[in-house]
Amino acid sequence: MKKLLQGIVDYRNHVLPDYRERYAALAGGQSPDSLFISCSDSRVEPSLVASSDPGDLFVMRNAGNLVPIAHASGHSTGDESEAAGIEYALLALGVTDIVVCGHSSCGAMKAVLDGKLPPNTPNLEAWLRHGVPALDMLRAKGPIDASRPEHDQLSQWNVLVQLEHVRSYPIVQEFLTKNAIRLTALWFEIASGIVYAFDEEERKYQEICGDFARKLLARYDLH
Ligand SMILES: [Zn+2]
Repeated sequence: MKKLLQGIVDYRNHVLPDYRERYAALAGGQSPDSLFISCSDSRVEPSLVASSDPGDLFVMRNAGNLVPIAHASGHSTGDESEAAGIEYALLALGVTDIVVCGHSSCGAMKAVLDGKLPPNTPNLEAWLRHGVPALDMLRAKGPIDASRPEHDQLSQWNVLVQLEHVRSYPIVQEFLTKNAIRLTALWFEIASGIVYAFDEEERKYQEICGDFARKLLARYDLH
């Protein structure tokens, strides 16, 4: 807590002055262009790796960057929080992108893999069931990158599976049919700080550099 409070004091004294105008402009509303779904892991900092400012990203975080799949009715098979975030991002904010970002050394993925959890964590245990389909995919299809440790192989599949869960919501289908949104799989490597995106053509994660970013953008043509 001491570090947190000192950080807020430093922010107030040294950072806020540069953001006063932006915050004042944002007070009346937000229009972020992306819904960014990532793990709660303290080592993953969406705004840092995306060089984003307040107002740019609508961020939803949880253990394992999981999104419960939808029933045919459009209701979540888990609790409502992730589905509500998707609905709000699409229908109230008008985002054009939904991104799921996984990461290396993810504790949630390790737990899905080996079933080991801290004692007395019934909610966590129940929550991680939404990651089991990723384990099924890893077992069925093999790793996307065999050079990675198994929990990272699972994490890389998990991003793709959770994007499919996003896609299972009728409202998302509707926006995809209208070509009004893009779905993108990102993966963050903690040891190097590198951000990768899944390349659908190559079927592997590629480091996002200028050339690859241009290639990705060229594939999209939103209405
Ligand atoms: Zn994680």
